[in-house]
Amino acid sequence: MLNNIKKNLKPNQKIVAVSKLQPIDKIQKLYAEGQIDFGENYVQEALEKIEQLKDLNIKWHLVGPLQKNKIKYLKNNFEYIHSVNSLETAQIISNQAEKINYLQKIFIQVNISNESSKSGFTVEEFQKNWPMISQLKHIKVIGLMTMPPLQNEPEQNQPLFKALKDLADQYQLSELSMGTSHDYEIALKQGATWIRLGTVLFGERAK
Ligand SMILES: *Cc1c(COP(=O)(O)O)cnc(C)c1O
Repeated sequence: MLNNIKKNLKPNQKIVAVSKLQPIDKIQKLYAEGQIDFGENYVQEALEKIEQLKDLNIKWHLVGPLQKNKIKYLKNNFEYIHSVNSLETAQIISNQAEKINYLQKIFIQVNISNESSKSGFTVEEFQKNWPMISQLKHIKVIGLMTMPPLQNEPEQNQPLFKALKDLADQYQLSELSMGTSHDYEIALKQGATWIRLGTVLFGERAK
């Protein structure tokens, strides 16, 4: 499956293998097939896996919602954080990164559908907070991320992905983290540069 998906990617399009709730041996297997970028949702689970897999050359991504009290544990373990969803979170990440002289690459999560249950900046909040976020010294905002409502049909996400792309273009942000197992083909057509794939690569997650 990995290679079938990879075949259709443009040079600037990459896969994050979302390994939350998946066992170590499945990560090792995908790594052996050439996958280097892996994404986790839960800080504690991620840190345990990172420790167990430290001999591999994995680039770790944090894709799940981040509680403020967990930020101090991140250190320099993650190449990218996809789910920065408030100014305060961005400030704490920057302050923690400063302590270890790290430059943390992040995506800003945008609630592009304006659905109330989803976390992320609304477009308005993003516009309002951008001047503050873009000034933070130990954060580098590389792009935008979105997670459409789970119940959406893939086709319903097409305009949402397009809107995220348009917003990123306005702010000259080149990376777009959008698309999961069920809608990645649509996300790729709309210009995703990172698709976040779990079940399609690993099978169903443990409950
Ligand atoms: C779990 C998760 C994914 C992967 O979802 P699949 O449907 O298994 O591909 C992608 N992004 C985020 C933010 C997730 O939490």
